[in-house]
Amino acid sequence: MDISIVVPLYNEDESLEKLYEWINKVMTDNKLSYEIIFVNDGSTDRSWEVIESLKSKSENIRGIKFRNNYGKSPALYCGFKAAQGDVVITMDADLQDSPDEIPELYRMITVEGYDLVSGWKKKRYDSKLTKNIPSKLYNATARKVTGLKLHDMNCGLKAYKKDVVKNIEVYGEMHRYIPYLAKNAGFKKIGEKVVEHRKREFGVTKFGLNRFVNGYLDLMSLYFLSRFGKKPMHFFGLWGSLMFLLGFFAVIAVGAMKLYYLFVHIKAPLVTDSPYFYIALVAMLMGTQMFLTGFLGELVSRNSSERNNYLIEKEI
Ligand code: UDP
Ligand code: MG
Repeated sequence: MDISIVVPLYNEDESLEKLYEWINKVMTDNKLSYEIIFVNDGSTDRSWEVIESLKSKSENIRGIKFRNNYGKSPALYCGFKAAQGDVVITMDADLQDSPDEIPELYRMITVEGYDLVSGWKKKRYDSKLTKNIPSKLYNATARKVTGLKLHDMNCGLKAYKKDVVKNIEVYGEMHRYIPYLAKNAGFKKIGEKVVEHRKREFGVTKFGLNRFVNGYLDLMSLYFLSRFGKKPMHFFGLWGSLMFLLGFFAVIAVGAMKLYYLFVHIKAPLVTDSPYFYIALVAMLMGTQMFLTGFLGELVSRNSSERNNYLIEKEI
């Protein structure tokens, strides 16, 4: 099979039929064999009935139905697990991504040898204030932190080599950072393609403004995980020790000062009158805490069942 198209969806019953017809047309015109995996993320509308009726019409349709609304990342995760095609394409169900882009994406993966190609909605048909402008800021930060020169990290339309989706684990709300996950997993050839973006025809957007707060927090988690996930002590241990040393020297300074005053018979001020006393106190406490955090992190990662999971590219 050439292509698996994974479509996560939550309450998109009005779009599904049209989406299927369109994909089917593009695939037949280009003589590509394909499957569409609809992952119904706990929709409360008629989405699942629509999927069932499409399935009875076409063998290319597969469906996965969640009992609850778990989110886009879990939907992608299950879709990726089920995918069989050589190239896996993800797209939103709301007809904002155009299936006409699929053949070119497929070509970039199979001919140009990209591991992952991310869509770039250069001209975007969403609300300016809540989507376009925040999204620019967010992508600029993501570019800095991840080192990936992508303009639109969170575009729903992406294409992957099969290997990539089988070797990364999308969880929580990490669908925003799949290119970064892929990069961390060792897939280096990551490109982008300008894609046509369309107005939402039916239904409403499922992501509010809180996605930016969550998005930034997730970005920080991922950054930390990729840098120190396997060796937390290297971060917390270092900064904890430095902090502790700072406090330690401050204590010595305070003590030495006091002794000196006593020695030369000047009336010594109270230790608690010195600012260094408080710096010492706070720094030593924080230092110990950080050191312990690092140590706990090491214990946790030592107990993780995945501590020795490495992605082996080839063996001969
Ligand atoms: N989606 C999902 N589960 C959710 C939220 C969204 O499967 O909990 C799907 C949704 O149905 C759509 C895609 O993820 O197919 C993108 O969502 P949406 O179009 O609302 O996001 P936007 O384009 O507004 O950023
Ligand atoms: Mg959308």
